[in-house]
Amino acid sequence: MTDGPRIAVIGGGWAGMAAASKLAAEGTCVDVFEAGRVLGGRARRVEIDGMALDNGLHLLLGAYTDTLACLERVGAPAAAFLRTPLRLDTVHGFRLDCPPIPAPWHLLAGLLGARGIGWSDRLAAARLMQRAKRDQYRCAGQITVTALLDAHRQPRRLREALWHPLCIAALNTPPDVADAQVFLHVLRDGLAGSRHASDLVFPTVDLSAMFPEPAADFVIARGGSVHLGEAVSAVDGDGPFTIRTARRTASYAQVICAVDPARLAPLLRDLPALSDVGARAAALRHAPIVSVYLDYGIDVRLRSPMIGLGDGPGEWVFDRQQLCGQRGWLGVVISASDRWTGTPHAMLTRQVEGQLAAQLAMPPAAQRTRVIVEKRATFLCTPGADRPTQRTALPGFHLAGDYTASDYPATLEAAVRSGLACAQAVLENT
Ligand SMILES: Cc1cc2nc3c(=O)[nH]c(=O)nc-3n(C[C@H](O)[C@H](O)[C@H](O)COP(=O)(O)OP(=O)(O)OC[C@H]3O[C@@H](n4cnc5c(N)ncnc54)[C@H](O)[C@@H]3O)c2cc1C
Repeated sequence: MTDGPRIAVIGGGWAGMAAASKLAAEGTCVDVFEAGRVLGGRARRVEIDGMALDNGLHLLLGAYTDTLACLERVGAPAAAFLRTPLRLDTVHGFRLDCPPIPAPWHLLAGLLGARGIGWSDRLAAARLMQRAKRDQYRCAGQITVTALLDAHRQPRRLREALWHPLCIAALNTPPDVADAQVFLHVLRDGLAGSRHASDLVFPTVDLSAMFPEPAADFVIARGGSVHLGEAVSAVDGDGPFTIRTARRTASYAQVICAVDPARLAPLLRDLPALSDVGARAAALRHAPIVSVYLDYGIDVRLRSPMIGLGDGPGEWVFDRQQLCGQRGWLGVVISASDRWTGTPHAMLTRQVEGQLAAQLAMPPAAQRTRVIVEKRATFLCTPGADRPTQRTALPGFHLAGDYTASDYPATLEAAVRSGLACAQAVLENT
């Protein structure tokens, strides 16, 4: 390790651990402070009756190049994920398969061969992608995804089958309020990038074991430290910075603050130069994601690892047996809708069980179930959402997190990229 100053990282989510592991790889000693008992933040393991589930079902894309590179850097197990060519498979007949041929033909072949939509829909989708490329994936002004689809005269069936589910899955924001520019970035990198960019990448281990925990081992092996259950209560100074927790007070030349946006403002209260940043993060609106886990106690093997459901409340079902070897378990995702967050869990579970029975011929009831509601799963990705940059008015104090300025919506890749950008800034400042 270098004899250089130690760096503090506040928050052990994917942004914080990406920053910490990048710095460790460059020979810098890092101390990570995480309020929770488990690393991973909004993408972490939740143990239920001895079973390692996650706080929410996550899907990555091949386009998450920085995330996948981080996994490799810290030596995450190769079996930590399953990578498959893009396949959108739904119970209402829509199916999109991208064949393993070079880009952009894989996408064209996928769209033109899509099942469950008509020829006019297929051509409309190909036309939108072609025009978006011509316009370099830039839209004029701050408009919503619905306005973008209107401008490209996208038919209703195509919106329902493809664009709306894609928008909700990627931005966790309903199309009528979602930011078209961010959506275009997702189309650019996810659909229109290289053939492998559109791959679906499914975690096959729990989300903490997938990256944050191997990253912590990597940091510790290089002279750093990771403190779990140790919330930072205050930061002051203007470089060096003093960090206070219930157990220690320590001074750091530079700090990467990788906490979730809702918890940023209180942490910055003794840094008046950053009061506007805290206020901007606090002003972001949030969207929930609800996950319903069901254990049927029998072998379940769906025809695809992830299938789109119809008629709500569930939107996508993940086959945990196929993906994670958890016999009998399915996980159902409900995104971007406040409608279900207040519903009694038993009632919501019954509705999801009914949906799975009717649409996938599952037994009428599961043996064990669990509902996890994340009310602030992501920020609401609307046009003009004011995302602070990683660089702040205080040199040496950096902001990481999925809510900071990015081409991407609140995703693992946005979080990781922000962490890497902060690590780079730290190295340049040292
Ligand atoms: C249910 C759900 C499903 C999702 N699905 C997907 C998906 O399929 N694909 C995808 O790419 N993204 C998905 N996301 C989004 C993704 O999980 C987030 O974008 C990402 O995890 C955010 O990481 P982060 O490090 O920026 O923030 P966080 O994960 O929020 O990390 C912040 C960390 O800071 C800690 N902290 C806060 N205050 C303090 C303090 N004072 N001191 C010390 N530590 C503190 C917190 O405990 C937390 O661990 C999903 C999110 C949820 C909730």
